[in-house]
Amino acid sequence: MKFCSFSHRDIARFGLLLPDDTIVDLPQAGKSLLGDEESLFDSPDLKSWLSHGAKAVESAREILKILEGGGQIDADAVFGKDEIRLLAPIPNPGKIIAIGLNYRDHAEEQNVPLPKDPLIFAKFPSSLIGPGDAIRLPEISQKVDPEAELCVVMLKNGRGLSRESAREAIAGFTIGNDVSARDLQFSDRQWVRGKSCDTFAPCGPFLVTEDEIGDPHRIDIELRLNGNLQQSSNTRNLIFDCYTLVSFISQAITLETGDLIFTGTPDGVGVFRDPPVFLKPGDVVEVTIEKIGTLKNPVTS
Ligand code: MG
Repeated sequence: MKFCSFSHRDIARFGLLLPDDTIVDLPQAGKSLLGDEESLFDSPDLKSWLSHGAKAVESAREILKILEGGGQIDADAVFGKDEIRLLAPIPNPGKIIAIGLNYRDHAEEQNVPLPKDPLIFAKFPSSLIGPGDAIRLPEISQKVDPEAELCVVMLKNGRGLSRESAREAIAGFTIGNDVSARDLQFSDRQWVRGKSCDTFAPCGPFLVTEDEIGDPHRIDIELRLNGNLQQSSNTRNLIFDCYTLVSFISQAITLETGDLIFTGTPDGVGVFRDPPVFLKPGDVVEVTIEKIGTLKNPVTS
């Protein structure tokens, strides 16, 4: 299944993508087709709805089954993609955790040894933007560089998770772009400023469940800058897979519903190209991940 958050006439909603490429409002569909016994569908946003865990996911599956079987729903609960504006799937995450140096090819392009443990850092949630929103270049940086990343979205709260329970604690996957100001990243003694500038965490377009993706560690990941292929790899090149990352992080930090984990980028980033390539106003960045979609963002000053 593919979930999304969206805005319609300036009202934020969340929904489910139907096979005919329209989007159904989940609370409206739930109340109309399933009733609302336990206020599951009173949730104001996708994050609070996901906090109901497996019950929420199963209710969406039930709605999909009813609609595919010819079930009827009010026309004002269904939207064409051209009627709405997609937001980041989780517009209000508690945390965005990111992983550095997590692709073999990306470590090799920098001539650095493979890490023994995941290298984690933070991006502030205030850096989050959605599909189509502009990446704004801050005046203090001349070296802004996008990074294609598979992004994990948490379903359940968890601490001290095993690798097996980590898998069950994941809601699904989306696309992240770990935009980085290389000059700030490398001149500061740590990365938070260079990675957390406003607009530096584009995310979306859909939150896709694992059953729809298949193995999340066997999918192609690409980044195009103005249509030119800049990064092209496969998640099989991840050093630490998504379940290992969730388990590792949760030994130290309680992960909560809606938290995002940017799992690292493959080789081909602009700063290590010869000559280097950095973003400029007017550019368009597209990150495509197989089975998930394309996250496209323009660049402005
Ligand atoms: Mg990164």
